[in-house]
Parts: sequence; structure tokens; C-alpha cells
Amino acid sequence: MNNKIVIVGAGASGLCAAVFAYRKGARDITIIEKSDIPGKKLSMTGNGRCNLSNLNMNSDMFNAAANQKVNIALKNFGVKDTLAFFRSLGVLIKSEEGYLYPVSNQAKTIVQALVSEISRHKNEIEIRYKEQLKEIKSFEDHIDVRTDKEVISCRKVILSTGGLAGPKSTLSTGDAYYICKKLGMDIKDTFPCLVQLLSDDEALPAESGVRVDAIVSFTIGNEVFASEYGEVQITSKGISGIPVMQASGKVACHLAAGRPVEAVIDLLPDINDEDFEKLIEDMCGLDKNRSVRDFVNGLSNSNINEMILKKMKLSPDMKMKNISDSMARCILENFKHLKITITKAGDYQSAQVTAGGVSLGDLDDNMQSKKAPGVYVIGELCDVNGRCGGYNLQWAWSSAYTAATHAAGCLCT
Ligand SMILES: Cc1cc2nc3c(=O)[nH]c(=O)nc-3n(C[C@H](O)[C@H](O)[C@H](O)COP(=O)(O)OP(=O)(O)OC[C@H]3O[C@@H](n4cnc5c(N)ncnc54)[C@H](O)[C@@H]3O)c2cc1C
Repeated sequence: MNNKIVIVGAGASGLCAAVFAYRKGARDITIIEKSDIPGKKLSMTGNGRCNLSNLNMNSDMFNAAANQKVNIALKNFGVKDTLAFFRSLGVLIKSEEGYLYPVSNQAKTIVQALVSEISRHKNEIEIRYKEQLKEIKSFEDHIDVRTDKEVISCRKVILSTGGLAGPKSTLSTGDAYYICKKLGMDIKDTFPCLVQLLSDDEALPAESGVRVDAIVSFTIGNEVFASEYGEVQITSKGISGIPVMQASGKVACHLAAGRPVEAVIDLLPDINDEDFEKLIEDMCGLDKNRSVRDFVNGLSNSNINEMILKKMKLSPDMKMKNISDSMARCILENFKHLKITITKAGDYQSAQVTAGGVSLGDLDDNMQSKKAPGVYVIGELCDVNGRCGGYNLQWAWSSAYTAATHAAGCLCT
């Protein structure tokens, strides 16, 4: 029997897995990639700059179900190892407040570094493009990998085909969920994650909308289940921005279960409740001969002010003297608790990652399937999703290292 390792998917985790497996002694590695180029999504990451990790790294930055596996993988290959690894490929990394990027500011630097390392070992690592995995059959002494071109016999398979998130051009179609299911693995329900949230609130501002620093909380009834601070973008379609994206996986999950979710935006996050009461008192004592527009003028961006008045069905030209104190209080309350009903999460094509995927309970600590030994599952295909900030790529590197080291180690002993 040969000692071949087949890696399916030449994305972030698959390319890395090939280099790790080679460095651990594997000498017969085949990468199968259905696209005609490697690292398509990787080259789009971080707005084309590739936020490849974060100095503030721990398992709390990932979904709770992933805690244990992420801890193990980070212990095997953490942030320091990531920096050393890219340094070994000749790539310098810089930190921007803990967020790590290549100094080139170009994601293509990372793709090129991985691909050129692989091509320097082309006698041992073959990449086959435009070839799609269709099925895996696991036997006692070998594994058959059936693609749309042929059946490849091997000893180990590393599945790094990613999930469903990303623009169409990334070919993220979640092919391997079905394949893993056929091998006996459980697939946790999937949701778009790190994505904008949509609303059909008629008061939303027109066109591109407005950006504000705010605390955005998400509620079901009166219960807050997520709360984030940062720059929130409010557009005609809904809300986005990093704090919204961070909570989007949980929101998508609740919406899918039919639970109504409301975003509550605190547009005055620097004013505490006590000071806010004082502000209301002061504002209600102002000259009532002004228009409602002038009343709210200094509180937020004019588009936000307009939106709040529209929400309350108040004409901006209305005089404050025609408005009761309780109505004035109501207007002001909106600046602390602006409510927007979320109708749905954005789709997979606008999402950065997929929540859900291959159940971690079906994988051992080496990322190997318990049901189909010799088959490893890494990267976004697993039920792991991290926060925005380089966490998902760190998972790609750490899980790739864990699986590739074990797979190669088994063959070389
Ligand atoms: C726009 C965008 C920006 C992002 N920015 C960041 C960021 O800055 N930092 C961060 O940490 N994360 C970021 N992410 C998330 C990150 O890119 C992913 O988590 C990561 O790429 C997942 O790596 P992967 O190897 O699991 O999958 P992928 O990188 O998606 O690679 C999977 C590969 O498998 C191939 N494939 C799929 N099915 C088959 C099949 N049946 N046969 C053969 N090949 C197949 C695909 O063509 C693809 O090349 C971003 C995502 C997007 C969409």
C-alpha cells in the first residue's frame, strides 16, 4: 500500500496542511482543488490584507462548542507558531493593535508564500486543479477518494473544503458536509456568520446609510443575548459593521428557530443612565419654540436624527411646544435604545464564515474522524466559528497543523 496523503481543498487550511505534512516527513501528498487557482478566498481576506491571526488569542473567541478542540489546536500551534511559520516562508507579519497582517498589506503575499513553498517540493506535493471530490470510502488498510476524474487510493485524507460562506467565486458550496455525513459524522445545522443583519424597518435611512460608534445589543423579548461595542453601520437594508457581525451567528441561529430578534442600539454609549436622566431633564427645559429637528440636532448624525423622527412619525418642522414632555422623553429614549427589528441574517455569499458543520464530538484530538479513521476534518468545515479579527484563519492554521502532523507522523513511524 502507498503512503499517500490526499488533501482536499487548496484553501487556507489545505495549503498549510500540505506544508506541515511535508515538514513532518510525508513525501507523497496530493492536493485536490475544484477551482483553477489556489487560495481564492484567502486572497480576499481582511479586505485584501489578510488578518491572519490576533495577539489576543484564546478559545473564548470561538463558539462555545469549539472550546475544547480550539484549546488543543492552539496548544499544538498557537500565535507564536503562526508568526514563526510565516517567517520560515519569508513573510514578515505586523500587529495593528493586536490584529496581525503581512507587512505587505496584501493577502496575496500569504497565498504566494504557501503556493511557492509547495511548488518547491513538486516531486512530493502535487496539486490537481479543476478536480472535485465526490465521495470517500474507508477500508481497513486504505481509503478511496473518488473525484469527478478518478479514484485515488491513499492512507490518509485531510478534508479542508471549507463551508458555505463567501462570494460565489470562492466556490464555497459545502460539498463535504454530505460526504462526511455518509462517513457517519454528524453535521451541526449551518448558519451564515460574520454577516450583516437585514431589517424591513421603513424608517431606515436611504442609500448607503450612516456609521456611528454605538453599543448594539440583541434581544428576544426583554432578554439580551449578545452585546457589542464598535462602529455600527445603519443602511437602507439593515445593520452591519464589526459589532453586528460579531453577534450575527447567534442572531441567525435564533431567527432560524423562529425567535423574533430585535437590535437595540445605544447611540450615546458614553452617557450613563444617571447622566442620561439629567440630559432628558435639561433638554426638556430648553426653549420650546424650536422645531423637533432642532431639538435633536446635536444628539447624533443628522441621518440618525431623521430616522428617529420618522420612526416616531413626527414631522421635523413640528414645534416642541406642541409636543408633550412625555413625548419629548420618548424621542430622547430612542437615542439610548433605538430598536430595529431584524428580519433575517444576510446570506452565505455576504457572510465571512459558516457557523455549524462537522460535529467536533465526532473528531478526536487530532481532528481525525472517530467513525472513519484516517479521515481528518479541518478549517471551516468543522463546527468552529471565531470572532472577526483573525480567529478563523488561526483556526485554519492550528487545525491544519494538528491534523497534518498526526497524519504524517502515522505514516513515518
Ligand atoms: C470576504 C471574506 C473575508 C475574510 N476575512 C478574514 C480575515 O481577515 N481573517 C480571518 O481570520 N478570516 C477571514 N475570513 C474567513 C476565512 O477566509 C475562512 O475561515 C478560511 O478561509 C477557511 O479556510 P478553509 O481552508 O477551511 O476553507 P477555504 O479557504 O474556503 O478553502 C476551501 C477550498 O476547498 C475547495 N473545495 C471545496 N469543495 C471542494 C471539493 N468538493 N473538491 C475539491 N475542492 C473543493 C474550495 O475551492 C477552496 O479552495 C474571511 C472570509 C471571507 C469570505
